[in-house]
Amino acid sequence: SSVTISHYRVLMMGAPGVGKTALTRQFMTSEYKGTYETTTPEIEEDGMSVSVLLDGEESVMDFLDEEMHPDGEGEDLSIDAYVVVFSVTDVSTYNYAVSTVRRLRVEKGVDRAIILVGNKIDLARQRRVTKHEATSLASKYDCRYTETTAALNQHIDELLVGILSQIRQKLHHP
Ligand code: GDP
Repeated sequence: SSVTISHYRVLMMGAPGVGKTALTRQFMTSEYKGTYETTTPEIEEDGMSVSVLLDGEESVMDFLDEEMHPDGEGEDLSIDAYVVVFSVTDVSTYNYAVSTVRRLRVEKGVDRAIILVGNKIDLARQRRVTKHEATSLASKYDCRYTETTAALNQHIDELLVGILSQIRQKLHHP
């Protein structure tokens, strides 16, 4: 029997230094990692790809960088989910995330999954953005909010699974 494996594209967005690279690297070591060999040369040049096994179904997720693909536009790219990262220690990165989410939802009318991520929660004493503030923003724009520590691999599996669940949910119940 043959099994069809779905491929999804995830665009990693956010100000420089918030932890996008660190998050994407940690996704590659997830315990949800499937068995499918991800050999997509065109992706290896500018992103990373991981196969994820969730609810008995395997999916390949390609992670693309905002710098290479602003707002996921150009070429024939179709983006299935947008991950908008900020650092909870840096208000300017949060403001950048706010304007990104607003641009996607309001100006571009994106109806795909958008996941807002507050990273670097290990730096608790330097926190400048509250969970409440970010949660309100997320609910206002129909996004999911998650907090992570990419540096210590905390809540990374939950985020990865959350992204995939959101993609599948939007496909089945748009
Ligand atoms: P990018 O520019 O968004 O891709 O950010 P990077 O992934 O390159 O991370 C920028 C810096 O933040 C690096 O020095 C990382 O080690 C650090 N960093 C990333 N995630 C965390 C985190 O969760 N906690 C802390 N303390 N540092 C982090």
